[in-house]
Amino acid sequence: MKDEKNRILRWHENKFLAYGKENKGKIITDTNPYIKIKPEAFDLYTEIDPPRVHPDTFLYKKEMLKFMNDEKTPRLKKTFIKYIPGLIKGAYLEKIQYKKNDKVKVRQFTDKQKLVLKKQILKELKKYDLIGGFTLIDRRYINEESENIFPYDTILIIGAEMTKDSIMEIPHPTSVSDKIFDFDVYHSGGLIVDKIATFIRSKGVKCLSHIPFKWDINYTPHAINAGMGNYSTHGLMLTEKWGTRLRLYAISIDLDIPIDKPQDLNFEEFCKRCRMCYKSCPSKAIPKDEDEYSGAIKRRVSMKRCGASMSTNKFCGVCLKVCPFNNFEYDKLINTLPKYYQYNTLDKRSL
Ligand code: SF4
Ligand code: SF4
Repeated sequence: MKDEKNRILRWHENKFLAYGKENKGKIITDTNPYIKIKPEAFDLYTEIDPPRVHPDTFLYKKEMLKFMNDEKTPRLKKTFIKYIPGLIKGAYLEKIQYKKNDKVKVRQFTDKQKLVLKKQILKELKKYDLIGGFTLIDRRYINEESENIFPYDTILIIGAEMTKDSIMEIPHPTSVSDKIFDFDVYHSGGLIVDKIATFIRSKGVKCLSHIPFKWDINYTPHAINAGMGNYSTHGLMLTEKWGTRLRLYAISIDLDIPIDKPQDLNFEEFCKRCRMCYKSCPSKAIPKDEDEYSGAIKRRVSMKRCGASMSTNKFCGVCLKVCPFNNFEYDKLINTLPKYYQYNTLDKRSL
């Protein structure tokens, strides 16, 4: 067995233990107090299970068909069909991007120029009303079969908003708005992320975009490492701007752009006193306490229970609907905490 210093050794379906690519992001996750793991256990596993057909898929399909014809959601079918070309185009653009990379005239950057490029990329995100942060890939959060589509170490995580209107009309999507909350972001996401990737390539840097409805990478811990938010009670990331009303994409970049730092936004102090998502979940899919799964420690939503509820309660999403951070401004909510419990955000907020 080769001595592969700094590489990761983890469980592999066929080989039992296999060395992966050097894992530069490991140190960030291992020292990030807002992501709880047991490194000694986590090093041997990936938290991402290989993609598979969920046992409830057939039930889900049957219920979905009923739902599509529900009189309370008259525009659902039409809206869903409207999304299909965007979804296909996004997946197609992701597939052909390797050819675009071959045409990039690669440029050398000084440290100062890297900072300028970072600012330009963040400005570009703002143009499309997106938020973002930079970090290093922690390869324990990549599906082992997808290692080859993450050849670079730096990663830009991008967040796109799911509008408040579309969340509030749950469980009857399209009864008021013309959006199906997460599908709306999936459909536009593939196209927008390709535009940002094209911008980065135009500056002389190769990169690869990653769209959200695949299982290649766990976006959330990377977004937390990039300082975009903290874990919520139900395992999604809470952000200052949109609470949990967002979907994540990523662009891995062939340049060591200065990365962002994780930050404590005080969400757990608030969540501890709230737990509305846990109390409201109709299928008891959100556990009361943290749990350990392959070395990662968090409240893990049971996909089986949530999936079953989604098929009978119709796009459920109650946990999104009840979350105060999806309804009210971050500052107003954090200010309801006694000052003593705001200790960790006092330096960045004016109280
Ligand atoms: S509903 Fe309450 S406990 Fe759940 S994520 Fe939102 S603030 Fe935290
Ligand atoms: S979507 Fe519904 S069932 Fe799933 S975790 Fe949220 S509240 Fe529970």
